[in-house]
Amino acid sequence: MQRETVDCVVIGAGVVGLAIARRLSLAGREVIILESGNEIGAHTSSRNSEVIHAGIYYPQGSLKARLCVAGRDMLYRYCAERGVEHRRCGKLIAATSEAEEPELGRITVAAAANGVDDLKRLSTADLRAMEPALAAGAGLLSPSTGIIDSHGLMLAIQGDAEDHGAMIAFNAPVLSGQLAAAGILLRVGGAVPMELDCRTVINSAGLGAPGIAARLEGFPAKFAPRQWLAKGNYFTLTPMPPFSRLIYPVPEPGGLGVHLTLDLAGRARFGPDVEWVDDIDYEVDPARGERFYAAIRKYWPDLPDGALEPGYAGIRPKLAPKGSPAQDFVIQGPADHGVTCLVNLFGIESPGLTASLAIAEHVAGLV
Ligand SMILES: Cc1cc2nc3c(=O)[nH]c(=O)nc-3n(C[C@H](O)[C@H](O)[C@H](O)COP(=O)(O)OP(=O)(O)OC[C@H]3O[C@@H](n4cnc5c(N)ncnc54)[C@H](O)[C@@H]3O)c2cc1C
Repeated sequence: MQRETVDCVVIGAGVVGLAIARRLSLAGREVIILESGNEIGAHTSSRNSEVIHAGIYYPQGSLKARLCVAGRDMLYRYCAERGVEHRRCGKLIAATSEAEEPELGRITVAAAANGVDDLKRLSTADLRAMEPALAAGAGLLSPSTGIIDSHGLMLAIQGDAEDHGAMIAFNAPVLSGQLAAAGILLRVGGAVPMELDCRTVINSAGLGAPGIAARLEGFPAKFAPRQWLAKGNYFTLTPMPPFSRLIYPVPEPGGLGVHLTLDLAGRARFGPDVEWVDDIDYEVDPARGERFYAAIRKYWPDLPDGALEPGYAGIRPKLAPKGSPAQDFVIQGPADHGVTCLVNLFGIESPGLTASLAIAEHVAGLV
């Protein structure tokens, strides 16, 4: 079997792995990205809402809050510099009953604590002027929320990384590994199985990351978390939508509610919902559409019958089971697990796309 020595291996060519590879290659590190599939971003990074989140809801001081707000600003700058298609279209949070209106005040305070101080309170008249099809008594505008071409972003990041010497090996699944005296030995399967002696390993394999950590001989098992899968299904709207901003209901316990996001062509999709699953399966069950109609008509009563089609699905890597409080990102470096040459990224669900460049900056500070 082939055996090579490399400086730094990033496992996973999703948006986060690519961003880390870019950052480390810009710093002069020799980087190889090992990707089990045959293309970049085929899992969560291409199965999301493509929203640049402002950073409103996350607990103050959490990694999600800090990396979302920092990452959002980095992302807008990066998109402008590199010509990645995006639009700062703004998002409305719509209260559809008087009982929901106090929540708007709480959201404004929580957002300000995260440094998101641009939320604007809107009256019924403001809302009607901005989005005439929306039925809501009061609302909030988040002007710094936007949308992005996630594939265009990944291609730009990949290009930067490759320009600085990084290489991607496709069809190169990491099977297992072993801690060694001066690094980590990785066993890689695929068409050309090989063993790699790595000085540094960044485990950014998304849904596969906990499994890889668990298969690293010598790595303390207590640092490889259990993972649960929460699928998010989308339904697309067949006609063009009567909205030009993203529309979110007031969040409900356990989720953000069935919201409307737009793509860069102005087409609308609703979702993602939350379906706890045992396996990775991206099929969308058309029967789940029923409850979308009722939820959407609370804020868009004129949604026509038959206007929704099953769209696509993504899967959130959850670090706690159904019913548990929301978990933060887990980014484990040497100070956490005691292994000098390893960083693990677990539970990188939303806002991982928005935060990707800031996550990369954070990881670069750990190795
Ligand atoms: C439904 C949904 C909606 C979302 N919406 C948004 C949003 O609007 N805005 C936002 O900011 N974030 C959003 N997110 C979050 C965002 O999509 C993710 O945080 C981000 O894409 C994670 O990227 P990643 O690189 O960590 O993972 P992934 O994109 O899953 O990449 C991991 C890669 O690792 C590879 N891999 C796995 N195992 C191995 C192995 N053993 N060896 C080699 N390679 C391996 C996989 O093939 C994959 O390519 C959403 C997520 C979901 C699920």
